Amino acid sequence: MNELQILYEQCLTCTRCPLSGSRTNIVFGQGNPGSHVLFVGEAPGEKEDLCGQPFVGRAGMLLTKVMEQVGLDRQDVYITNILKCRPPQNRDPNREEEQACLPYLLEQIRLVRPVLTVCLGRIAASRLIRPDFRIMKEHGIMFETSFGPAMAILHPAAVLRNIRQMDLFVADMNQIARIVKGSEG
Ligand code: SF4
Repeated sequence: MNELQILYEQCLTCTRCPLSGSRTNIVFGQGNPGSHVLFVGEAPGEKEDLCGQPFVGRAGMLLTKVMEQVGLDRQDVYITNILKCRPPQNRDPNREEEQACLPYLLEQIRLVRPVLTVCLGRIAASRLIRPDFRIMKEHGIMFETSFGPAMAILHPAAVLRNIRQMDLFVADMNQIARIVKGSEG
């Protein structure tokens, strides 16, 4: 069993925060553990909680489609969230939950060792890049963080709510694909 699988096994029985009492499944992460890019959302939603996989609803379908459009294979990237359990009614993660769960994410980043971590949406960016992150102004920009290079792009659910943002989303994903392909030499 590799280190990522050991972390997953530990996470399966986690009771570090109250969300352990309401989850159906842990949503640990999915994809290639050797990926050059790691995508981070904020938390599982209802569908994710039911099946135990990240980004499987409408937002996930859009994410997968745009990845394919720019030549990224979803099976070849790694996707996870800041929280591994669903907050009730899909509310935003609170500080206690984030602090309890963040060590799992930081360990995932350490083990996957991506050349780029991509925050999906403002909440992930404000937790991982900078608390006052301005998603509409700072998406697509590379930042140096304590865990390596990071960038934020719009959350696919936000793009579904405002389809005029699709061009920005595709442009940022194109940039990510170029960085990933460049890092593969
Ligand atoms: S959200 Fe994270 S810290 Fe809280 S119970 Fe789930 S795995 Fe544990």
